Amino acid sequence: MKVGFIGVGNMGGPMCRNIIRNTNHEVVVFDLNAAALKECTDLGASAAASVAELAGRCDVVLTSLPIPSVVEEVTLGSGGVAESAKAGTVLIDLSTNSPETAKRVSEGMRNRGIAMLEAPVSGGTARAKDGTIVIMVGGDAPVYEQQLPLLKSFSGEVIHVGDVGMGSTAKLINNMLAFCNSAAAAEALMIGKRAGIDLLKLDAVIRNASGMSSGYANMATKALKGDFGPTFALDLAHKDLRLALEMADRLGVPGLIAPQVMSLMRMARGMGLGNSDSTSMIKVYEAALNEQVRA
Ligand code: NAD
Repeated sequence: MKVGFIGVGNMGGPMCRNIIRNTNHEVVVFDLNAAALKECTDLGASAAASVAELAGRCDVVLTSLPIPSVVEEVTLGSGGVAESAKAGTVLIDLSTNSPETAKRVSEGMRNRGIAMLEAPVSGGTARAKDGTIVIMVGGDAPVYEQQLPLLKSFSGEVIHVGDVGMGSTAKLINNMLAFCNSAAAAEALMIGKRAGIDLLKLDAVIRNASGMSSGYANMATKALKGDFGPTFALDLAHKDLRLALEMADRLGVPGLIAPQVMSLMRMARGMGLGNSDSTSMIKVYEAALNEQVRA
């Protein structure tokens, strides 16, 4: 089978390389970033010159793109997947979108005889690299069953959550929860700093106690080292939380906690941290208190 991969950045890159390593599929890649492409072609993928060329050559096209407008441009826009792929091709979008975007893209594909699975992922770059990422899939069951071996080739857990739209729904709810945990972790670490406790000891306690979560672990690992190189950019986290809050508004669910986290992210972006890692939101506390959380 010929598998195309569009968007081989922080997440798409390692997932694509796991497909190359773990399957016999011929893999074709496209990205705007030449360095990101090279990491995949070095492992045996071939590079396409455009989305249109890639889509025309492949049986399955995966996308891992930053924001919904880029997903729509690459899939439904001029020279995009809908226009260029053969009928019978399957599109699998691994990006984090709103349910509405996923449904619009799916509809556009269906009109051209292309099936679509929305398949957002969770676990960060570490789990994308070690192939244990979790994938939540929205789409028709027969297409899901057909694509399951490919999805399993680069993940640890694949869950079919319902029709197109439900994958994004699961992903946005999950990320809202993770960002709330992460923001609470920033606050907790700053209290620990001010209290004068050995932060490495506090960290050892929390990792073995009831305050532990992957949001905490991610925040503490990066903040204590002061390593805010973007494995998940704050701008992308802000996009996810904005989509989650829009969903809550549409559903009439009042937000008490997540909107506070949104304010924290907005302040961090105001400090010019949009391209830094999402955990750099702790710098809002650090700037306010003129004190750093490092150990
Ligand atoms: P990224 O910015 O590192 O990667 C995106 C890639 O898409 C880049 O290499 C970029 O050059 C490429 N690109 C952008 N526009 C393009 C276009 N028009 N045509 C071709 N390529 C294009 O972002 P990422 O962190 O890999 O995130 C990708 C998606 O996965 C996002 O939707 C994000 O929300 C989601 N996500 C990220 C993480 C994470 O930890 N980084 C975790 C789960 C989900």
